[in-house]
Amino acid sequence: MSSDESGDRRGNKTPRSAADTSARDWHIDTRAARAGKSFDLRGGMPTATPIVPSSAYQQPDAATVAAVTQGTQAGYVYGRYHNPTVESLEETVADLEGAESCAAYSSGMSAIAGAVAAADLPRGAKILAARDLYGTTIVWLEDAAAKNDWQIIYVDLCDRPFATAAIREEKPSMVYVETLSNPLVRVVDLDAIGPASRDAGAILVVDATFTPPSLLRPIEHGATLVAHSATKYLGGHGDLVGGVLSGPASLIEKARARRTLDGTIVDPFTAWLILRGLKTLPLRVERQCANARDVAAHLSLHHAVSKVHYPGHGPRDTPREKQILERLFPSGDYGAIVAFEVTDGGEDEARTVLDAFELWSRATTLGDLGSNALVPVMSSHRHLLPERRAYMGITDGLVRLSVGIENVADLIADLDVALQACRP
Ligand code: PLP
Repeated sequence: MSSDESGDRRGNKTPRSAADTSARDWHIDTRAARAGKSFDLRGGMPTATPIVPSSAYQQPDAATVAAVTQGTQAGYVYGRYHNPTVESLEETVADLEGAESCAAYSSGMSAIAGAVAAADLPRGAKILAARDLYGTTIVWLEDAAAKNDWQIIYVDLCDRPFATAAIREEKPSMVYVETLSNPLVRVVDLDAIGPASRDAGAILVVDATFTPPSLLRPIEHGATLVAHSATKYLGGHGDLVGGVLSGPASLIEKARARRTLDGTIVDPFTAWLILRGLKTLPLRVERQCANARDVAAHLSLHHAVSKVHYPGHGPRDTPREKQILERLFPSGDYGAIVAFEVTDGGEDEARTVLDAFELWSRATTLGDLGSNALVPVMSSHRHLLPERRAYMGITDGLVRLSVGIENVADLIADLDVALQACRP
């Protein structure tokens, strides 16, 4: 065959005439550039969620482009606005949380920013925030408050009568709280805070990062918006950074509008990883909680430990707290974060414990399958002034554990060796 009929050595098909422009005659570089443009599931539905990485979506004609872009016809337009894989994650999380809607983000912090955007606070608005919060959340809120002329009032929201009285008196526009506080795992009675916030006309934003929906669904207890760092339990494998925000459709729409401007939508690969993680969420978390209970019980009896912070097992282990825990956590699982203080120890002793670990990873995160340990003064709460940490009850010698799914006897043995290193 001559090259005129079959094409050249590079695979270019040679048009038989200038008028022959049928698609099969495009040059090889054109065909390569358009690789995979046809995609047909032949009517089948994949059992695993497809990852759709597309930045944009081709429409059949100009009229459809206009209709889809203006929102008068359903369809996807551009990856910064929405994405099918991300929407599959959002529908799943909304279902697990018992929420009307959900928006997924590129990090837990951007989900928190989304919650505040959805609240649409006017200048001069009052925010009643829990005294006990993740350090970066405090820094973020204070920065936003300074720029928008908001007033933040910090209150011990774990103190039920004090918390409800403060909400009634201050009449804030927004109440901001963590279900179990970081790092002292103090429980907030959402059944008290929820109705008090509603009566005061405040939006109640709950960061539920420490308590995934298989343990606690804050919306059932009066939360308006629920944020998670999906980096933690929802993803669960320590291999992604993401966030989710759930709540009423009207507020989530506002959050999405802001997300589109900020460009903080989660990417489709990460959304897929979170979805994959969610499939085993209850199994993982059940094991993590069982391990955490055993770790807390062991530490409570250890001579080298002066205080253990774990719900139902610590210095605040009162009948009242037990009652709140049983009501909020009917499964009896109170999360998998345990914090402790070395007897008469400061930061040096906490560092000695970290250094001596063989099994526990010295890493600034939580919720992974593998167990992690950190010292808040060096990591999660390092941005705060010492007086602020003291106000929150965070001592220099505090060690925070995120308990994983390993064999708990091994975790305890490694803890014992580490404690022996600083208090022989
Ligand atoms: N909320 C809590 C309680 C956290 O512990 C963290 C991070 O550790 C965040 C929010 C922020 O999440 P991310 O790191 O995914 O932005």
